[in-house]
Amino acid sequence: QAKVAGKNCYRFYSRTMDQAVERRVRLEHDLRGAWGRGELSLAYQPIFRTRDRVLVGAEALLRWNHPEDGAIAPSVFIEVAEQSGLIEAIGPEVLRSACAEAAGWPTPRGAGEPPFVSVNVSPRQLRSGDLVQQVTDALVESGMAPERLHVELTETAVISDEANATALLARLRDIGVRVWLDDFGTGYSSLSHLRRVQVDGLKIDRSFITDLLRDPDDLALTSAIIAMAHSMGITVVAEGVERQGQFDLLRERDCDLAQGYWLGHPMSALEFARLLD
Ligand code: C2E
Ligand code: MG
Ligand code: MG
Ligand code: MG
Repeated sequence: QAKVAGKNCYRFYSRTMDQAVERRVRLEHDLRGAWGRGELSLAYQPIFRTRDRVLVGAEALLRWNHPEDGAIAPSVFIEVAEQSGLIEAIGPEVLRSACAEAAGWPTPRGAGEPPFVSVNVSPRQLRSGDLVQQVTDALVESGMAPERLHVELTETAVISDEANATALLARLRDIGVRVWLDDFGTGYSSLSHLRRVQVDGLKIDRSFITDLLRDPDDLALTSAIIAMAHSMGITVVAEGVERQGQFDLLRERDCDLAQGYWLGHPMSALEFARLLD
């Protein structure tokens, strides 16, 4: 396209690309040490049981408050952390911090058991070979019960590294930690892999929930995922619930848990602790 458009246009594209590369290099540089400078923190998004809308846990979501640029989207900086390898330093801190903050959370009214905290683990962390140790350290330091820690892995990360992932997840589950598949339905794997890779739960990707009320295919797929998961004893969470109608429909279809802006936005640890009380 640049060739057809001519020399000037090519230069334009090239300059934009340079800028993108520059920004990336700068972000990588700034991200190094960001944890130590206190620029990174965790936000917690509440997760509810659909049956009775009782608060049962939260997903920990990393936030970066850049000193000059302000809040940077996780979709941007997590990718930088993953590509550069910085995630191998940040990931263990996230685990440690989430367990430390969640350890003291009270049991919400009606929940019956202490709330869980769900932590995202990146593909690179999964491959690092150190995940079980990181998880054990975080649990020992915080004193939190292993059952309260959920580890979220994307379907794609697990499938692309299946032999290693299967063994690793089994060890995590032996400790008592729950394993969840994140963004379920967006990868290429799905059903057959669930037989081999043992997981406790799966999170139906937001893209299925968005049009749940309008698109019969999305509703059919969501219902099928729920039924299949339940037949295997797997718990189901729906992410990206933005309207009451979606929530009502998910409850009717027997989806176990739900998370989304209609139920609650990600918030600070302090705000979440208050919500639990
Ligand atoms: P994810 O794990 O699928 O997390 C859910 C994302 O959906 C979060 O975006 C959350 O804020 C957003 N969300 C929740 N409810 C709604 C809703 O109702 N509508 C819409 N439109 N969005 C909703 P966020 O915080 O920007 O995180 C994006 C991704 O970054 C996460 O996707 C996860 O893959 C990654 N991430 C975040 N924190 C960490 C971390 O500590 N470690 C790793 N490895 N990845 C992380
Ligand atoms: Mg997640
Ligand atoms: Mg997700
Ligand atoms: Mg998602």
